[in-house]
Amino acid sequence: MKKPKNYSAIHCWIRSHYGKANHCENPNCKHLSNSYDWALKQGYQYERDVNNFMQLCHSCHKNYDMTDQTRINLWLSKQFPKPVSLETRQKMSNSRKGKTWPSMGDYFKSINSLPRLEAHKKQRETLRYNISLLTPEERKEKYGRHNKKNKNTL
Ligand SMILES: [Zn+2]
Repeated sequence: MKKPKNYSAIHCWIRSHYGKANHCENPNCKHLSNSYDWALKQGYQYERDVNNFMQLCHSCHKNYDMTDQTRINLWLSKQFPKPVSLETRQKMSNSRKGKTWPSMGDYFKSINSLPRLEAHKKQRETLRYNISLLTPEERKEKYGRHNKKNKNTL
């Protein structure tokens, strides 16, 4: 999580006014940690107001600070898994030889038919077709590696 500029100033202030955090306010605390923090409540700003903070043990604090963005990223990575290369797929299938894991086949089928892959393919085909319509001079002008015109303007 990105810490705001006044992060340490506010924490200093809260410690000097209210002392060190010494207990966990999470009613479901599993008592996994013996050290405690002043934790900013979600949706609150770093301000000199003790009501914006609560005391949590390290363990609960870590869970609590999982930001919305982290949650969204997690969700996104589940919704749009990266396409897996043939090599990786081979490795994975070798490693689970003899195991029954019936959903994996469907999983790979689903990610390889992702519409964005199709769109990307189409885009490249269109570009290739457009280039093929150009004269050699135009091609050099637009896509040539040794494009003098671009070199001069850069
Ligand atoms: Zn706790």
